[in-house]
Amino acid sequence: MSSIQENRYALGNRLCLDFANLAVSPGESLEQAPGWDELLDFLQAKDVISGERTGHLRRLPESDVRAATVLLSHAEELGSAFRLIFHAIVRGQTVSRGWLEPVNRILRVTEGHDELQWDGQAWRLGFVAREEGLDWLLAAVARSGAELIAEGPADKLKMCGNPQCLMFFYDDSPTHRRRWCSMALCGNRSKVAAFARRRGGEKARAHYA
Ligand SMILES: [Zn+2]
Repeated sequence: MSSIQENRYALGNRLCLDFANLAVSPGESLEQAPGWDELLDFLQAKDVISGERTGHLRRLPESDVRAATVLLSHAEELGSAFRLIFHAIVRGQTVSRGWLEPVNRILRVTEGHDELQWDGQAWRLGFVAREEGLDWLLAAVARSGAELIAEGPADKLKMCGNPQCLMFFYDDSPTHRRRWCSMALCGNRSKVAAFARRRGGEKARAHYA
């Protein structure tokens, strides 16, 4: 996995926002749910699952296509619900009870406990689910989203200042003036556009002078 990809998974500054952002790319207004490999890449990059477990899960669509399909569709529902809910929060609109169902469902079926586990190199805190099935893989993501939603309307949850961009991020910077999902992508693009507009204006003025 490249460092650019890892960075892309951290632009939201909250686990749930990075997860919701999986459906979009910086500066683009197309939404598309992540596929199996991207979901696993994300969960591994976020330390939700170990590299070893990711390797096993990578082959799951061949060994248990039903389990993989169910998890992928639950991930898609959770991501869509987040995007709907976060849009509403950013716009100051009411969050409907029905939109929360995919979040609450994951919270419900993922009862379990944390346990210290050896990953071959270090002790890490891992989640042990009480239920069978793979929904526990989404537990930390759902929890992160639930906490953000429970914060209520707050001006820390923002959408990128590029009108073409659908990325969310959580602005807890001291100045509270973060505008872009990514300075390198949307921020610079906006600066270049503003520069071109100014240059265009100067040229037009020169022409009519
Ligand atoms: Zn952006």
